[in-house]
Amino acid sequence: MPNTAERTYIMLKPDGVDRGLIGEVLARFEKRGFKLIAAKLALPSREHLEKHYADLKDKPFFPGMIKYMQSGPVFCMVFEGLDAVKTGRAMLGATNPLASQPGTIRGDYALAVGRNICHGSDSIENAEKEIALWFPDGTLQYQLSQAAMIYE
Ligand code: ADP
Repeated sequence: MPNTAERTYIMLKPDGVDRGLIGEVLARFEKRGFKLIAAKLALPSREHLEKHYADLKDKPFFPGMIKYMQSGPVFCMVFEGLDAVKTGRAMLGATNPLASQPGTIRGDYALAVGRNICHGSDSIENAEKEIALWFPDGTLQYQLSQAAMIYE
């Protein structure tokens, strides 16, 4: 049985929220067939962002990135579905929007690597860590009535 309950963490960054792109990004995941199982606006603390981006703490762009991530609210989402992590990354496009294919979120809405509007988990392990960090109270369980029209 394929795992239709894989979870991924998707987040509109402050530029994505400010530019009015929450609905665009959310709609793409909904239309693809993914199930939204958690969502909220947040103003994360520096400590929280340092945990989220712990792997990048030695990068030269780290201080600027943390400042940008605190420049306004972020919109946090968890989606569930078949191959959610890998497909979510493909829908986002490459980290640098200039390398992102048109048709991807970054390829359609962004130009600069430091303003690439959204985050998506890059592995199942990181997705579970990120979901625990951003949604410590957990995610929702429910059935989509259309599930039999999305999965064989
Ligand atoms: P991704 O977000 O695609 O998983 P990374 O985890 O490598 O990519 O980087 C996290 C975020 O750090 C990127 O989404 C981007 O906003 C920022 N970033 C990465 N590389 C650079 C860079 N060279 N200059 C500025 N910001 C960067």
